[in-house]
Amino acid sequence: MHLRRTFQLGFLSATILAACSTAPRESTAPATSSSSSARLADAQRLHDDVAWLADDAQGGRRAGTDDARRCGEWLAERFAALGLEPAGEQGFLQPFDVPLAAVDRGGSKVSCGTQSWSGADRIVPAYCSDGASATGTLAFAGYGVENDALEWNDFKQLGLDANDSLAGRVALIVRGAPPRRKAAPVADANANVVAGNDWGASTSVLTKVMNCKRRGAVAVVVVEHPEHPEALPAFDAAEARATSLPVLIVSAQVLMELAPEYVQTLSWMLDHPMKGLVEVGAPERTVEVVADVEHKKGAAFNVLARLKGKTSARCIVVGAHYDHLGMGGPESKAPGVHAIHNGADDNASGTAAILEIARLLSQRETLECDVVFAAWSGEELGLLGSRHWIEQPTVPLASVAANVNLDMVGRAHAHKLQVLGVASAAPFEAWLGELGRDHGFELALNGSGQGIGGSDHQPFLEHRIPALHFFSGVHDDYHKPSDDIERFESDGAAATVDLTVDLIAKLGAAGELAYVEPLKDPNAPAAPSRGSNGTWFGTVPEYSFEGPGLKLAGTSAGSPAEKAGMRKDDVLIQVGDVKIDTMQDFVYMLSLYKAGDTVLAKFLRDGKEESVRVTLATRNKQ
Ligand SMILES: [Zn+2]
Repeated sequence: MHLRRTFQLGFLSATILAACSTAPRESTAPATSSSSSARLADAQRLHDDVAWLADDAQGGRRAGTDDARRCGEWLAERFAALGLEPAGEQGFLQPFDVPLAAVDRGGSKVSCGTQSWSGADRIVPAYCSDGASATGTLAFAGYGVENDALEWNDFKQLGLDANDSLAGRVALIVRGAPPRRKAAPVADANANVVAGNDWGASTSVLTKVMNCKRRGAVAVVVVEHPEHPEALPAFDAAEARATSLPVLIVSAQVLMELAPEYVQTLSWMLDHPMKGLVEVGAPERTVEVVADVEHKKGAAFNVLARLKGKTSARCIVVGAHYDHLGMGGPESKAPGVHAIHNGADDNASGTAAILEIARLLSQRETLECDVVFAAWSGEELGLLGSRHWIEQPTVPLASVAANVNLDMVGRAHAHKLQVLGVASAAPFEAWLGELGRDHGFELALNGSGQGIGGSDHQPFLEHRIPALHFFSGVHDDYHKPSDDIERFESDGAAATVDLTVDLIAKLGAAGELAYVEPLKDPNAPAAPSRGSNGTWFGTVPEYSFEGPGLKLAGTSAGSPAEKAGMRKDDVLIQVGDVKIDTMQDFVYMLSLYKAGDTVLAKFLRDGKEESVRVTLATRNKQ
């Protein structure tokens, strides 16, 4: 689960639960939950399964690793033992690729003529470097910053503002923010730039590289400022993003040797802030840039099992992700801590819960329709497993009546749960009211599908399939090694299982469920189709598409992309001045334009290039 802000629709109070019943393990004795408040789920069994998944032996279950593969196979065995049918592509498994942590292989170098520079003390790949090499003439681009609010534009000042001004060239830029200037208060409340020197993202290495790429640069060399050289940063695999360019950070010493005349320029700039830069007439230099970075892929596996119902024309997908953070990484809330993140609550709890739901349902009378149990992988990497399944479903997507997602249900001891996506189908709120009462829960219902955290129900909502997400709340151990078995509350999880079993019975008996566009949570942070400044394009990306370009899995309802006639399978290749190779380019493009701008979008449809004018908007003004 990825952490974000939320808001509540309302509370439903309830009666406290009566008694617990402990069914024998994998027992075949049919259990009924007629009096639904009786406890059927086995809290000890839930505890044991969470203990197994969260054990150090599973290494924190990072998707793409052997640890996660082993957990996937264990889940397949469990589903098989319950007599469920395989519903994957290879039996219970559906393989797909996930990015593994990027690796700096240490062979990066810059060459110019007979000279060559390498070595970790002088050169390090930037976190946004691709594993690539390129050759071109060096072009000095100052700090590589463009920030209209602060009236600073290195490219304009250096006569490099045209879109092809760096075509085929290697851009040389200075790390950090341009020299300070006096704070001039900005009156416009909507400006997302505060008064004075808040450069925001405009001085990040990634944004600078994208500014150079937009102008045609084939590589970027980022140099430490000679006046205040800092130690070279380590290669930050955690933040790795592929910009499809080789990008190297070099020490001031390398600059001294590679292009000494630029050293004077930089100190001049310190003395003359706001005067901008003048071209110093540097001799033309052809340099080769080699970024020895490896972006490897690992094999991950969704685990899918079907419980046959009276009809397969309709099914309910009950899912939970079983992957977690492994030894830490970008999503860890214990930055710098390289230790097993056991993920007992996130999300061994939900995974154990769907196993127990499968066991209980497999012992009940046959449901009206099939239930597909899905243990997703790749959730922590951006919902990759559930997105992959939605793009390559192993049952007809049209047959999916609803999705129930359990992500972090291990802290429900007070019988309090948040439920997201409640507004995505009309009967949900009333059902949950009733179930909350019957099972002694306080349910916080959230109409929008976006709560504090993204999770695997979202790809279903994006495909206009009603979906509910059960969640027992955030806590201090979230995404830390301390999220371990000792803190798992099996009683609350067992009660959650009982409630969900009854919900699934309702879903099964409900027949067609019309999808209702849930309310949009205006506080929800930017989705990929919306820039940090609120600019909205409205594509639903196909995440497994390797590029170049951004392939559409669809468009958001009422969005600029939909209005412009874009559709599923179109491959976006250019928007305005920005060539779209990767998701990174698309996000960068959104930061460049604002609502109301009309841009020309070029895309491939059935292999042929087409273009259309798109007028950008802001989502919450919809
Ligand atoms: Zn999670």
